[in-house]
This record gives sequence, structure tokens and C-alpha cells, in this order.
Amino acid sequence: MITRICSVNEESLREAKSILSEGGVVAFPTETVYGLAADARRDDAVSEIYRIKGRPSDNPLIVHVHKDYDITQLVFDDRAYAAKLRNAFLPGPLTLVYRSKGKVSKIVSCGLDTLAIRVPSHVGAQMFLRYTDMPLAAPSANLSKHISPVSAQHVYADLNGKIPLILDGGVCTGGIESTVCDVTGDFPVILREGLISREMIEAVTGKCEVYKLKSGEAARSPGMKYKHYAPRCKTRLFEAEESDKAEECFKTCMLQGIKAYVLCEGGVAQRFPQDRVLDLGRSENEMAANLYNLLRQGEAVADLIIAIKPTKQDGIMAGVMNRLSKACANE
Ligand code: AMP
Ligand code: MG
Repeated sequence: MITRICSVNEESLREAKSILSEGGVVAFPTETVYGLAADARRDDAVSEIYRIKGRPSDNPLIVHVHKDYDITQLVFDDRAYAAKLRNAFLPGPLTLVYRSKGKVSKIVSCGLDTLAIRVPSHVGAQMFLRYTDMPLAAPSANLSKHISPVSAQHVYADLNGKIPLILDGGVCTGGIESTVCDVTGDFPVILREGLISREMIEAVTGKCEVYKLKSGEAARSPGMKYKHYAPRCKTRLFEAEESDKAEECFKTCMLQGIKAYVLCEGGVAQRFPQDRVLDLGRSENEMAANLYNLLRQGEAVADLIIAIKPTKQDGIMAGVMNRLSKACANE
């Protein structure tokens, strides 16, 4: 199969809709990462997503809709605080998990009685969702367990030959996946941290918890249990206060002829040779936006990525830390 990259316009949207209507898949841009979309109502189409990505069959998908879509077609919207969250943050990088009405393929939620819905703010994503006018199941458009794509070229690198069309909406400005927040209970519970932080949600609803998986318990968000976002080279992860140790590790690699690159925040970057640094930048938003791009750059040239956690670890950095730790888990 030939994979084409097209900017979002009338012609490519028409083609995208025709592919989706036949049960096929299309990659599209969002403000977080690129998604791989299929008609959420069709078993055959949704199964294609799992097959193409090699995604475990118990990891549910998020359904994407445009901003005027009536979500009560798909879910029960029975918590007043959920409306407050929608007003505050949507369209945007926040996915809400509701009780499902069972109107989409069962494969989307992997048999759970809930459904995750997201309304992306990216202009190209809104055009795509409005034009196709169907609820679209979409995970990130990468091979399962690889780094999520933040450009059309990243999607192409993973899925060339496997999908017919990538809609190109430029580089994603958010850079990490949406916050996933369960709104079925008395108060919101974050199942996956992201660009809408616990603090931001708390400011709107008064209370918000971050779900922690306890050992022996079935995961409330099955995706949590998988190693994710991993680059194809070796990695080592150091705490923020261990930059001396990281420097030692880097020097040892140099002596042994191991091509090591250091992934770290701007303030720490000066300690290493400039051509061996993958510089995350200084602000929180910069670090989120740069992370996956740098991991992909790193895996292309490095034997080893030495990652040093940024100093700030709360707010949206909690989401960045979560992705960095999963990408560079010390084995
Ligand atoms: P990805 O598609 O790779 O961004 O992953 C989607 C994330 O949303 C995974 O972590 C899933 O576990 C989570 N998710 C999707 N649907 C549900 C749901 N119905 N209940 C809980 N978590 C969900
Ligand atoms: Mg993913």
C-alpha cells in the first residue's frame, strides 16, 4: 500500500471520508500527538487499528468528535462537574471517560462499560471531524510501544505501507497525549496525566484525584500497565539531583566508544558537549512539546540515551515525567 502525506484541504478531506466510509483508517493531526482514526461504530474498522499498530487487545481507544457533536448520543452525561470541565477545557487536550450507551463498537472500550471521548482543539482535527461527521476511534498513530508521533513524518516512519493517508497538520504544539479523566464517580479521577493538570481540574471542580494502580488490582485504565513511548536504543534514567552521576555515566560511555546522548532540561544542558545534548528547553510547555521529537531524534543516532529528569515535576510536568519514565524505564 502506498502511504500519502497530504495537507488538510477539501480534496484530502474528501479522500479521508471515503477511506473511513469503507472501514479504512486515516492518520490525522491533533494538538497533542497524531491520531490513527477509524469509524468507531464499525467492528471491522476498529479492529484494523489494533492490527496495524500491534496494540494489545485490552487497551481501549478514545473516541474523537467535533466540538458541536452531541455526546449524549454515545454516553450518559450525569455529573454536573463534567459540564464544568468541558466548559473550562474543551476543545482541548482533555479526554473524559463517561458511562457508555453502547452505541459504538464494543472493541473500542475492550468490553468496559465506559467510553472515553475527546474533542481536540487543533484546527485541522476539527475540520477532519466535522467533514467526516462520525465518531472516530483514534489512538496515537505509532506502532504500539514506540514513541508517539508529533509530526506527519513520524507517522510515516512507523506506518509507511500500512495506511493509505496521513493528513499533515504540522508539528503538534502540545507534544504529549491528552489527560484522561474519569467522570463517572462523585469527583473527577485522572487516569492518565497530561497537559490539563490535576491542579487545573481541581481549580474548576474543587476535588480531583490521580488514580494509582495498586498491585494485584485490575487497571482502571488498561493502557497504564504497558511500557510505552520507548525509543529503539538503550536508555538510562537519572533523578534530577543525580546529574553528577549522569555526567560520570556519559564520560564512561565516551571512553568506551558508546555513542551516548543526554536528554535534559536547558539548565543542565551546559554540562555536556552541545552536539551530544537533546535539550528539552526551559518552560514546561516547551519540555512537553519537545519530548517525543527529541526521543525520536535520539534513537536515530544514539547507542544510549542518558535522560535526566527535569527539576519541576508537578503541574503539567507530572504528565511529562510520566512519559519520560515510561520511555526510559531502567530495565
Ligand atoms: P492512546 O490511544 O495510546 O492515547 O491511549 C488511550 C488511553 O486512554 C489508554 O491509556 C487507555 O487505557 C485510556 N482509555 C481509553 N478508553 C478508556 C476507558 N473507557 N476507560 C478508561 N481508560 C480508557
Ligand atoms: Mg498511544
